[in-house]
Amino acid sequence: MLELNGVNLASRPPRPARTAAARTKALRSLVLAGAGLFAAALSMAAPAVAQPFEGCPSKEILARFEEFGRTGKMPPDLGAWLGNPKAQYIEPWKVFDNVHYVGVCWVSSWVIRTSDGIVLIDTLHEPHVDQLIANLRKVGVDFADIKYVLMTHGHFDHVGGAVKLKPLLPNAKFVMTQTGWDEAAQSAKQSEATPRRWSMIEQGVVVKDGDTIKLGDNTFGVLETPGHTHGTASYIYDVKDGAKTYRAITVGGLGLNAIENSKQVEGFIASLDKIERLVKQPNNPVTVHLTTHPFSNGLTEIREKVITRNSSEPNPLVDPQGLLAQLASLRRGAEERLEIERKAGR
Ligand SMILES: [Zn+2]
Repeated sequence: MLELNGVNLASRPPRPARTAAARTKALRSLVLAGAGLFAAALSMAAPAVAQPFEGCPSKEILARFEEFGRTGKMPPDLGAWLGNPKAQYIEPWKVFDNVHYVGVCWVSSWVIRTSDGIVLIDTLHEPHVDQLIANLRKVGVDFADIKYVLMTHGHFDHVGGAVKLKPLLPNAKFVMTQTGWDEAAQSAKQSEATPRRWSMIEQGVVVKDGDTIKLGDNTFGVLETPGHTHGTASYIYDVKDGAKTYRAITVGGLGLNAIENSKQVEGFIASLDKIERLVKQPNNPVTVHLTTHPFSNGLTEIREKVITRNSSEPNPLVDPQGLLAQLASLRRGAEERLEIERKAGR
């Protein structure tokens, strides 16, 4: 979701509108600074960027990043937060019987176990890849068992970890759409002249709309969903909860932060339609959204419910209505953006 180009990060962003929480925080730092000369001196010596969030509060994060999506400029506190492993830490957790969350607060990475090995979705980015590696070990993944790494799109926060992971995964094929591979290569190249340079692995397996990857007792469907980026893909697969099996989707891209013109927004809306049809279809509908960004649908808060639930209770992530509501909300944002792009003649 993150548009990382050095220009955005390096340029001084306009002062963002503050949320209530940010206002409280700003007030608190003002009070602290006034509490003594020592504090004032300290703040003068090291004008550290305040942490924008405590923990991983989905609504606050979403609000701040919607603002970033509108301005296209990264506020310094968010930029610092993204690169702070401590702030980003999430204890890996079991989401379904065959699924673990191994991502961080900002961006997801999913482990899906099958009867013939493991599929990993997305690779995080630095400085969080060591955390991903530790998380994989913590949930008992044998690296030789990872057969596929499915990547959603070419932005660094989803593919930036591939370069460190690849040598550790002797049997894994790295997978993305052709446009996704191209976007990643181009984006990595552009980063070379910036303080946040990253490198991309060489192109691996190319998938296209309608392809399926069969592994053991699971099948991973590829759904091209251009819009967030031109090469974005979503993946559809089975998740298990006791005796029940559900169809889940990882929607590849959610934000409008990399939009170039109205045509791209039209593509974004068409992709939402495509996903909506899968949720509404009578035969084997998609009922679970395992998101690429946990704050996009309150995953961090749902985590507590999933972990603490009684085994007889249904998994709260089986929520087709919640997914439809999220799609409707994304559509409202996209329709607003479409107007803006059209008015600007783009
Ligand atoms: Zn992205």
